[in-house]
Amino acid sequence: MIRIDSLKYQALEKQHLEFFKQRIVDQLKNKINDLLDHWHSEDRTINTYSNLLEHINFVHTKGTYSFLSKNIDKILIGKPETIKDVIFDFENTYPFHRIIETIKPQLNEVFSYTNFIRKDLWQWNAYTFCEKLDIRVCPYCNRNFTFTVVNENELITRPTLDHFYDKGKYPFLALSLYNLIPSCYTCNSTLKGKTHIDINSHLHPVISGFETEFKFRFIKEGELVDGIPKNGLEKYVKDNLFLEDHTDVSYPYSRQAEGNISLFKLNEIYKEHYPEVIQLYNTCRHYNKSILKGLYKSLDGLYNSKEELYVQLFQSHLDPKDFGKTVLSKLKRDIAEETGLLENLRKFFSEK
Ligand SMILES: [Zn+2]
Repeated sequence: MIRIDSLKYQALEKQHLEFFKQRIVDQLKNKINDLLDHWHSEDRTINTYSNLLEHINFVHTKGTYSFLSKNIDKILIGKPETIKDVIFDFENTYPFHRIIETIKPQLNEVFSYTNFIRKDLWQWNAYTFCEKLDIRVCPYCNRNFTFTVVNENELITRPTLDHFYDKGKYPFLALSLYNLIPSCYTCNSTLKGKTHIDINSHLHPVISGFETEFKFRFIKEGELVDGIPKNGLEKYVKDNLFLEDHTDVSYPYSRQAEGNISLFKLNEIYKEHYPEVIQLYNTCRHYNKSILKGLYKSLDGLYNSKEELYVQLFQSHLDPKDFGKTVLSKLKRDIAEETGLLENLRKFFSEK
């Protein structure tokens, strides 16, 4: 799980709000007017049970539309914590579970995700949003690219958008800025699907990642790097690779991190990256301290820092804040650390 800098979302708040706010408020107002017209078009004497039920439905539906209209800023650009508060208020102000099923089609129309993902309807749509947000790699798994490709004439490709809070259950969150997480198809559709999560149970990528709090480890406890059997490495990696808990008391999201590891099947799926792990392991073993020194000398100062040499060796980034720039960057760094390569790089560059 790789954190997304919240500034990336913040930069889009104004545009998102300006595009949707009036549009949605107007539609909610229309819905209320339609409701009132219909209500007043007939003689309504509340003298039977069914009349009474109809009256309750009318009051709740109208109340729901008003509530959404009143909270439109929070809904559209509220941070994940604010969205959770809106959900709480909504469920506690009106019998949400009762009325939502009845008015879901109307809410889907007002908060139209279908229109948002169309290429030809709105200037501000899923493509322009993803392009501006610029998330290159799935934050949930760090395995698949999620960049967007558009040019002047064509919207070519974009990542799928996960609704952190399920839009099936909360249709009014279908267009909420912080509820739209660019992610890969596997994480979004195959694994998460309609699973209902929130910020108490799972990590929202704007709130935190676990770049350094959980680390991939594949060497059996108590075993040395050189002690790993050279034969049967595939089975060895599959048997032993997992995300090890390195959290301390200063990290407040352990439960949520565990939630993501479990939901996105990170331990299970990463075992299938055994060829990459074996390759990384071999690279780390071959580039011992003296080789690194020789490499540095023979290239006559081509590398000025351990980061530069690391990038060259692993085609990846060393700094956890850059993990979102390429796939498998977290796995690579963790393996480089576990096998001692990072330590050698450090020593080498401090000695030179
Ligand atoms: Zn993913």
